[in-house]
Amino acid sequence: MQSSARIALVFTVLMLAACGGNQQGNTASGDAASQQTFKWKLVTTWPKNLPGLGTAPERMARDIEVMSQGRLKIKVYGAGELVPAMEVFDAVSQGTAEMGHGAAYYWRGKAPAAAFFATVPFGMTAQEMNGWLRYGGGQELWDRLYAPFNLVPLASGNTGVQMAGWFNKEINSLEDVQGLKMRIPGLGGEVLKRVGGEPVALPGGEIFTSLETGVIDATEWVGPYNDLALGLHTAARYYYYPGWHEPGPTLEAIVNRAAWDALPEDLQAMVRIASQAINDDMLAEFTARNNTALRTLVDEHGVELRRLPDDVLKALREVSQDVVRQAAGDDPLAKEIYDSYMAFYTNVRSYHALSEQAYINAR
Ligand code: CA
Repeated sequence: MQSSARIALVFTVLMLAACGGNQQGNTASGDAASQQTFKWKLVTTWPKNLPGLGTAPERMARDIEVMSQGRLKIKVYGAGELVPAMEVFDAVSQGTAEMGHGAAYYWRGKAPAAAFFATVPFGMTAQEMNGWLRYGGGQELWDRLYAPFNLVPLASGNTGVQMAGWFNKEINSLEDVQGLKMRIPGLGGEVLKRVGGEPVALPGGEIFTSLETGVIDATEWVGPYNDLALGLHTAARYYYYPGWHEPGPTLEAIVNRAAWDALPEDLQAMVRIASQAINDDMLAEFTARNNTALRTLVDEHGVELRRLPDDVLKALREVSQDVVRQAAGDDPLAKEIYDSYMAFYTNVRSYHALSEQAYINAR
């Protein structure tokens, strides 16, 4: 055999051996990965098992455990059980818990543009938010915003349009909100401040006592289904709509980056799909339950339902445009997020004017 032919043969044998070895290696590591089990802690900003917001992450955790046949078990903690509500972001960022559930606008102090991934005043509805996040570039921007915090964000719920909130006096003009101490998060709180109110940041579990004891004068929370569960009607008389400040807030699941990277691809897919499922399911639950809860509030508890006057809404809308624009500040990524959000919003609302809106007005 010529030396060049011998070298070629040896090379071929070596290549085959190497390939065989690799295949065995892949199979072995694949088996190991498919049998590896994970136990995660999921911390939430919600009171434990609060209907709607609190029960959604519980359902998501159960879905993931069933789908993974027990390979990924997630234990859900209510606010304050492992960490306080407002420390969920840091706890997951630092790996104290592998996963969290809350709302992005709670973390404006860490990343001002985070509010765009929950809701902004007079912004997009639930349906529109889902379109932007999944097919309009929103998710990619959210990933980039949270990357420096070692967090993977996932849309994991939506309440639909909320109520404007609970008040102990009628709101007939902006004069009536002067000095009003109101629990209202996100950019809506910033708008209230600009028109003379005093926004207060409180997690859900602290609202009722604060309202009842007069620490705050007014509050918003979610809508009839959730607000009835918190008993807010026993501490305030007037229930105002529409929820100009939260027209379709996305709730978020956040996953610690190292915990995410440690999962094999199939478990990552299950977490993604389960969060997408709960994102849709929560909206379905609120849609199904809100009006029945509203009837209970009005008919059984004597709650006074009121619509915010048009001129109040007009003034809030004008201030909101400035607040939302300024939320982006000088940060280049925040500016990119604002531009993407507004471009999508402008586009989708012009079609929705002649589809969703036209139909709802016509039916
Ligand atoms: Ca709210």
